[in-house]
Amino acid sequence: MCGIVGYVGRSEAAPILLDGLRRLEYRGYDSAGVAIVNGEHVETRKCAGRIAELGKLMAEKPPTGTYGISHTRWATHGKPTDQNAHPHFDASGKLALVHNGVIENYQALKDQLLQDGDDNFTSETDTEVLAHLIGKLYDTSVAEAANAGSNGNASAQLPNNKGRLVEAVRTALRQVIGTYGIALVHRDIPDFLVGARRGSPLVLGVGKEENFLASDVSAIVAYTRDAVYLNDFDVVAVERDKFEISSVAGQAGNYQLSKVEFTDADIKKGDYPHYMLKEIFEQADSVRDAMRGRLSPEECTAKLGGLNMTPAQLRDVGRVVLTGCGTALHAAMIGEYSIEQLAQIPTEVEYASEFRHRNTPMTRDTLVFAISQSGETADTLGALRESRRKGYRTLGICNNVASTIARESDGGVYMHAGPEIGVAATKSFTSQVAILTAIGLLLGRMRHLSTSEGTRIIEALEALPSQIEDVLKLSDQIKAIAKKYASVNGMLFFGRQFNFPVALEAALKMKEITYLFAEGHPSAELKHGIIALVRPDLPSVFIAPDDAVFSKNLNNIEQVRARKGPVIAITSGTGADRLAKIADDIVSIPIVPDYVSPILTVIPLQLLAYHLAVELGRDVDKPRNLAKSVTVE
Ligand code: GLU
Repeated sequence: MCGIVGYVGRSEAAPILLDGLRRLEYRGYDSAGVAIVNGEHVETRKCAGRIAELGKLMAEKPPTGTYGISHTRWATHGKPTDQNAHPHFDASGKLALVHNGVIENYQALKDQLLQDGDDNFTSETDTEVLAHLIGKLYDTSVAEAANAGSNGNASAQLPNNKGRLVEAVRTALRQVIGTYGIALVHRDIPDFLVGARRGSPLVLGVGKEENFLASDVSAIVAYTRDAVYLNDFDVVAVERDKFEISSVAGQAGNYQLSKVEFTDADIKKGDYPHYMLKEIFEQADSVRDAMRGRLSPEECTAKLGGLNMTPAQLRDVGRVVLTGCGTALHAAMIGEYSIEQLAQIPTEVEYASEFRHRNTPMTRDTLVFAISQSGETADTLGALRESRRKGYRTLGICNNVASTIARESDGGVYMHAGPEIGVAATKSFTSQVAILTAIGLLLGRMRHLSTSEGTRIIEALEALPSQIEDVLKLSDQIKAIAKKYASVNGMLFFGRQFNFPVALEAALKMKEITYLFAEGHPSAELKHGIIALVRPDLPSVFIAPDDAVFSKNLNNIEQVRARKGPVIAITSGTGADRLAKIADDIVSIPIVPDYVSPILTVIPLQLLAYHLAVELGRDVDKPRNLAKSVTVE
């Protein structure tokens, strides 16, 4: 959800940790802190608020030292206060720990610690309990060793303090129910970090005489592109020039060193005022990259080798379940329309959080897709695990190559969209839709789609990048519309067929970054209740391209007009002329087949939310209460 950065090396840790936190800030950001060990002292700075606040604190009194840990928090247990900010300490004050995730049984663990006489808790967090538990186990082990030594029983096999700390971490984590990515330091063990993960990501960055821990490689890619993506239940002991990975159970761990796909430049804003705008404008490229090498004009189909399925297996798919959350769920809803239209395979969309906890009836030939930009979304990961546990072939559609969903699925398709930093998802949505259309094409061509139909679909997909460029040219027009409606009380969004999920996605963008009330509905639902909301300060946005249901949308627009509701229309082809007299504002985009239409229609709506949020002075890239990668349930 939020961020961890750890460093051990020869450089001053403070600037590296702070820089890493800044790069992770988009993931969660209600408080932040660092602990850097300087000889006898653990120098701690922490506070509620943004990384900028922490930066000020650190500038006032710079902590020095060459190893330490840091954190940006998205509070789950206890308010975002200075006191609750991480790092948290054990009872001795020597061990500092940062944590992403939730310790579900923290109360039981705390009760036990209290019973044992440890009542030195200073925060409301679940995290502090884990710090105390590890500290207690470590201190006990050190004391036992000292006793054994003074009794003359010292043996060469006794672990040194590093080994004792790792063992204490393991023993504590075996008692934990919940999720964690953690990093910790101990004042008495110089140049040493310990990390561990279960459910929350953690990556080890391998440098020259320096090593890093981070919850996301983007925090450390400026320093190294060699990374080890840790697996659940891995525990890693990190020193300047070596590291050792083992499991919570105590077994030696396997690992693989990977090269990070992107560079530091990819995660910079460039000349854009916000990441979100940059990412909206990257969509011509990201959609192109989603399809690169995946369309075969010779065979008039899509080639998706990552699915790891033979033609016979693909042909035998009898049902598809698409699961995800938020924006990914909206992309899935479009996928349902395309897979059913192009391949005629019954397809169902399930909220990942619902799917994992209910018993969705499945058939033997059901193929499940888990869709998540980060590949770490806790609910989607839970759905994937549930589906695999029941023996269904479960594939991932993710952006983050080394993510947990990517690693745990039976195969899948990478988006190759590049890092998405803005909290409000934009380019990942259009990439997901493009990929789901390619899946529809592939499954369709295994069945009834002819070569000429396949060719038409490929042409429609290949035409998209330049059409996206055309839509992006409308940004100034949309900015003017946003200015005009800056004082509204909310917005309603309507669309039909493939553009109904776009209405949902547009409303989500509006809510996320403008904090205005917004709802999306199928246009025809208007008269079934929503029309009661229509009034002059609540504009309705209609996604009404020039398609088979245009005249139906037109009727709905008239119904809104008759009740003095302002209308903004996203249309194409002859739509602009036909709407000239009844819509207040018209945005005209290229005309395309219905199954690719959402990739174009969503862009003006992303821009509308963006420009309105800027107009309202919102923090576009870091909207309140939200976090980018939702690794809690
Ligand atoms: N549960 C911890 C807390 O509330 C960690 C939250 C996080 O992932 O930032 O402090």
